Amino acid sequence: MLYKYNLRTGTEGFYDVTAQVNESVRKSEVDNGICVIFCPHTTAGMTINENADPDVVSDMLFAFKKTIPNRPEFRHFEGNTTAHVKSSLMGSSVTVIIENEKLVLGTWQSVYFCEFDGPRNRTFYVKIIEG
Ligand code: ZN
Repeated sequence: MLYKYNLRTGTEGFYDVTAQVNESVRKSEVDNGICVIFCPHTTAGMTINENADPDVVSDMLFAFKKTIPNRPEFRHFEGNTTAHVKSSLMGSSVTVIIENEKLVLGTWQSVYFCEFDGPRNRTFYVKIIEG
C-alpha cells in the first residue's frame, strides 16, 4: 500500500508527520510489517527525533545553520547548495517497524519532514509492507 501526502512548508522547519504515518498504518490494516516514509525532494529530508521539547528541532536547525552556512565557493546556480547538503545529511527516508497495528517508536520519537528551502508545496510517501 502506498499513501501520498501534501505539505505546505515555511522557509525552514521540521514538520511532525507522525499522525499521517499512523493514519496510513490504520488504512492499510497491516498488523505487522514495516513502513517506509519517503521524501522525493532534493532540498528536504526525513528524520526521526524528539517531539517532547520543541527546542530540540529548533536547536537542530540552528546547528545546521552554523555548521553548513552558505559559501561563496558553492557553484550550484540555484544558490541553495546548503539546503541540498542538509537534505543529504538527513536522508530521503526513514523506516519504522509496525507491530500489532502500531508504529514501534520510542516514547519521545516523532517522524519529521525537514524543510530546508521553503516555502514550498511538498509531498511525501508512506509505503507499507506486510511481513
Ligand atoms: Zn538547487
